[in-house]
Amino acid sequence: MNFMELISMYEQLGVSRAVYEYGEAVLQGLRTRFDAIDQTAEYNQGKVIAAMQKNRVNATHFAATTGYGYDDEGRDNLERVYADVFHTEAALVRPQITCGTHALTVALSANLLPGDELLSPVGAPYDTLEKVIGIRPSPCSLAEYGVTYQQADLKPDGSFDYDAIREKINDRTKLITIQRSKGYATRPSFSVHQIGELIAFCKGLKPDVKIMVDNCYGEFVEPLEPSDLGADMVVGSLIKNPGGGLAPIGGYICGTRECVDRCAYRLSAPGLGQEVGANLGLMPAFYQGLFLSPTVVAGALKGAIFAASIYEKLGFPCVPRAAEDRHDIIQAVTLGSREAMVAFCRGIQAAAPVDSYVTPEPWAMPGYDSDVIMAAGAFVQGSSIELSADGPIRPPYAVYFQGGLTWYHAKLGILMSLQKLVEAGLVHLPE
Ligand SMILES: *Cc1c(COP(=O)(O)O)cnc(C)c1O
Repeated sequence: MNFMELISMYEQLGVSRAVYEYGEAVLQGLRTRFDAIDQTAEYNQGKVIAAMQKNRVNATHFAATTGYGYDDEGRDNLERVYADVFHTEAALVRPQITCGTHALTVALSANLLPGDELLSPVGAPYDTLEKVIGIRPSPCSLAEYGVTYQQADLKPDGSFDYDAIREKINDRTKLITIQRSKGYATRPSFSVHQIGELIAFCKGLKPDVKIMVDNCYGEFVEPLEPSDLGADMVVGSLIKNPGGGLAPIGGYICGTRECVDRCAYRLSAPGLGQEVGANLGLMPAFYQGLFLSPTVVAGALKGAIFAASIYEKLGFPCVPRAAEDRHDIIQAVTLGSREAMVAFCRGIQAAAPVDSYVTPEPWAMPGYDSDVIMAAGAFVQGSSIELSADGPIRPPYAVYFQGGLTWYHAKLGILMSLQKLVEAGLVHLPE
């Protein structure tokens, strides 16, 4: 195939030759970064295949079960595979876990009892956990059940405040929650190595404290996972990284046998635990999604770096910066105006395989104090391992961009976002 065929394909999709060539020039500088991402994906692909081979995955594991789901060998074996991938004693991987927040809620409420205290040594947790913990009052929060909460904020430079953490760990501190990804906050995301140091520090002060890592958006970004460096539980959503875009629902908790048993009793019922929970025919998607996840994550990472490289060159501040190491798949781009946020999101939407004809508009989403704009054309509703962008319409007018099941789709989405900004007269490409 020649170069002109590719140009004409992009033109057919709505990307002008000038935008395409601008993108290609930026890409030239990213080859070594992309090679490093491919190498991590290669390593993690091996890790997943080795776990599947060790557990002798075969076609009988893909069978559907219904009702109670007793003797569901496909489900039980998938949990052994996850435990081997994350190097933990046990795993709970279920479609009955409805989302990441639910998985985290199960892990917290199963391992904290009345009178216990929860500590976050990395500042405020993800938004949806505020009501789970009771930072904002809610029926059924941990606070309502007599579990208290403490928080040690990060230092202004984003590093751990070890003095504050030492001060806040006390007799009642039972569980420490560490969020790997910044989510939609402005702090940095943490490397697995940094998390390992924090775990060692906390366990040094209190050896029997349990450590849970909110692993959302971090899986397979690095060769190690927090469970390799002492976390008692790692927790995440299957409609993010580890579902590989194929899982239509679900969450996972991998960790020590003791912690995971408690999670299973909390999720189903004391005495029943992991023995019940039909797989409803989802095993092919769960196995195959996990198998694809390392390469899907690699595509999303390339997209994040490509976006940062394009927009930083055009003068828009990016978090993380284009040249920074990645610890998750989220990219924030500060566009500086409502109009630019709308144009960016319209580009992402127009590049989607699903709902490409829809025009995103800012709207007053419940629970937010400003309008929010969202772009997503996903096979699975709300799936943020698929290419998506969103952000609150307020200063500094930043969009959060993530996902992409293939690198080529992520690339198209970013080029299309730039196309819309150029067409709106908000960006002028250098000659
Ligand atoms: C997405 C996310 C969650 C919550 O997951 P949902 O599936 O949206 O409930 C929690 N923590 C972090 C860091 C996340 O990125």
